Amino acid sequence: MLLDVRDLHVEFRTRDGVAKAVNGVSYGVDAGETLAVLGESGSGKSVTAQAIMGILDVPPGRITGGEVVFQGRDLLRLKEDERRKVRGADMAMIFQDALSSLNPVLTVGDQLAEMFTVHRGMSRKDARARAVELMDRVRIPAARERVRQYPHQFSGGMRQRIMIAMALALEPALIIADEPTTALDVTVQAQVMELLAELQREYRMGLILITHDLGVVADVADRIAVMYAGRIVESAPVHDIYKAPAHPYTRGLLESIPRLDLKGRELYAIKGLPPNLTRIPPGCAFHPRCPLARDVCRTDEPPLYEVSDTRGSACHFWRECLDG
Ligand code: SF4
Ligand code: MG
Repeated sequence: MLLDVRDLHVEFRTRDGVAKAVNGVSYGVDAGETLAVLGESGSGKSVTAQAIMGILDVPPGRITGGEVVFQGRDLLRLKEDERRKVRGADMAMIFQDALSSLNPVLTVGDQLAEMFTVHRGMSRKDARARAVELMDRVRIPAARERVRQYPHQFSGGMRQRIMIAMALALEPALIIADEPTTALDVTVQAQVMELLAELQREYRMGLILITHDLGVVADVADRIAVMYAGRIVESAPVHDIYKAPAHPYTRGLLESIPRLDLKGRELYAIKGLPPNLTRIPPGCAFHPRCPLARDVCRTDEPPLYEVSDTRGSACHFWRECLDG
């Protein structure tokens, strides 16, 4: 396994007290595999990714337990300089907002070329040539000319392609993409997602695709992990989930996929809001919003039940859910 996250815990200190952002998350990604991590904002999906990348070290976020085993080594035990090496070359992250991730005062060509001069010791001239190649590779038209432009001179979709190019530059084994298409309009979303999926296959990278939108992952993900209140509530091959969800929260997400006539809107069919992470409800954290909840759900926290060899659900009544 390329990446094996085991029982990860992350806490934040807030004015309200300690927020338990990640509460025992375990998931894995193989080379050439795409894992979609799904959930509403505040479910802990981004925080988990930041912990994996090692960009959570700034207080007040703190990893309080678990392991992040990447290519056989627990990253949480590495020294910061070793960690930085891994982060620079072997894993890369793509964020939602390319404009704030790119340097506004450097041309995109300089930013791409820098990856090769700094990390690969290439000459400026060679690095420049690689930058143009990469821009071509992510299908930016007229790459040879546009390499001299600044980030703000590109459309949102083109900027996201540049982010993908930056992430790919050193051919990392793992890419984590956090809502990579959320800021884009629907047609552009599909194109960028398609490109990302194509490059992931070609380079045989592991890809973790973080999203709140189940609609965008159907064609690209191999597996889905659904998060709620800092836990994984369902984990399964993508086709199993679309066929029949084994957790009421997943069901709610599925039913909220925007239809063609309503595209672009978030249509959560699930009532209520995710919990305040300083006061996660006892028992099953989802019980205040769950249409299937009963007494035991308010007191007993469901473990991740084994639904099949490849599937887990943290619902006492997963059978009922599966049967619809
Ligand atoms: Fe709903 Fe109970 Fe299942 Fe939680 S354990 S998802 S409250 S039925
Ligand atoms: Mg997020």
